[in-house]
Amino acid sequence: MPDSLAAVDAGFVELRELRFSQRAAGLMKAAELLEAGEEEFALWMAREMGKPVTQGRAEVAKCAATCRYYAEHGEAMLAPRELEGARLLHQPLGPVLAVMPWNFPFWQVFRFAAPALMAGNTILLKHASNVSGCARAIVRLVSSAFGRDDFLRAVFVSGKEVEPLIADPRIRAVTFTGSTGVGREVAAAAGRHLKKSVLELGGSDPYLVLEDADLARAAKTCAAARMVNAGQSCIAAKRFLVAAAVHDAFVERLRDELATFKPGDPFEPATNLGPMAKASLRDELHAQVTGSVKAGARLLLGGEPVELREKSYYPATLLCGVVPGMRVFDEETFGPVAAVIRVEHEAQAIELANQTAFGLGAAVFSGDVDRARRVAEQLDTGTVAINGQVVSDPRFPFGGVKDSGWGRELGEHGIREFVNVKTVRG
Ligand code: NAP
Repeated sequence: MPDSLAAVDAGFVELRELRFSQRAAGLMKAAELLEAGEEEFALWMAREMGKPVTQGRAEVAKCAATCRYYAEHGEAMLAPRELEGARLLHQPLGPVLAVMPWNFPFWQVFRFAAPALMAGNTILLKHASNVSGCARAIVRLVSSAFGRDDFLRAVFVSGKEVEPLIADPRIRAVTFTGSTGVGREVAAAAGRHLKKSVLELGGSDPYLVLEDADLARAAKTCAAARMVNAGQSCIAAKRFLVAAAVHDAFVERLRDELATFKPGDPFEPATNLGPMAKASLRDELHAQVTGSVKAGARLLLGGEPVELREKSYYPATLLCGVVPGMRVFDEETFGPVAAVIRVEHEAQAIELANQTAFGLGAAVFSGDVDRARRVAEQLDTGTVAINGQVVSDPRFPFGGVKDSGWGRELGEHGIREFVNVKTVRG
């Protein structure tokens, strides 16, 4: 471990001196290698955390597109700016510690790494323990792309060993993606050692279905947004706030859409619902469902764990009659469980949407886009999709408020998180 830290510290001296065009060439090469290795990387994800291979391939393609995006646009984003006779420079900070989760083992890393490398920062990666094969593959890939092995290195340590890394003076900043609980610990450690941090944490994204929505489109999108990665996504749709006038019709459609997701072998190309990454997560999700049913929610689909080929699956599950105070309303549900809440009017939809500790993403479905935009302005989240699904996109800033974290990744805002904005006057 000390070797890896020493390596990225030494690598920084080299990387900061590279011209933008040289860094861009490394990222372009990384994009090519990602595409060439798409199948291999998708298999690693399927093996280590159960992601269906078709979804794994799409994840790798998105990483490649993001490398190209920053290769093409990063220099303009960080170019010196003239302001009232002064010059503003954007200079790299140094080695950044990246603590990453297992749910999108490639995407979470590249979403941070592409802009960080373009900005001139080196990376010490502490990936989730269950995706070490993915972590090693990423290290090999970045080494080949840049022709050096000291721009991105991985450490294989437990969570407890993270604070000493944050404390090390060679680490200049930390980016963390993961649960809100661990995020608090990382933020506290970063505070103790005065290191800049970006936190991408949990979410309980509300999807508001207003009475003038196109219900067929809304139901299809809501089901897809809930079922992404077997529901194990921070920006998966989690709570559905549905206007009373269309409630029953929407619920029927949502149930039909959810029922098209069938547990299957992640190595089979046709599989659209893989196993959950850990049995403990599945058990926790089931406890949230049974607890909510006990509290009065109605189960309309799923709700019973499934064992297939010794893997832990949870079926597409639909709960109705959900109200605040039930676990599926109050907590993040990290699996394929849709919680439907009936609302009487728009104001109540907004109030309940915001009645959560989280603030990551949200969606509004309405036939009146101006109305949807007015609603969007009142939601306490980092992103709102109108008549669509919340997705991350390299062009746009991504992140949350409240217990979903702070700082932004992606877009111009993302690349500026880990730079020293230096004012040079005179
Ligand atoms: P997690 O348990 O918080 O783990 C995330 C990372 O933190 C892993 O690398 C983990 O390592 C490490 N870790 C564990 N304990 C630690 C400690 N005490 N100090 C420092 N690091 C520690 O999260 P997860 O279960 O992997 O991921 C699911 C959560 O991530 C969900 O809440 C989800 O919403 C959130 N998430 C958020 C975003 C976003 O962009 N906002 C994206 C994806 C996921 P080990 O594996 O070794 O324990």
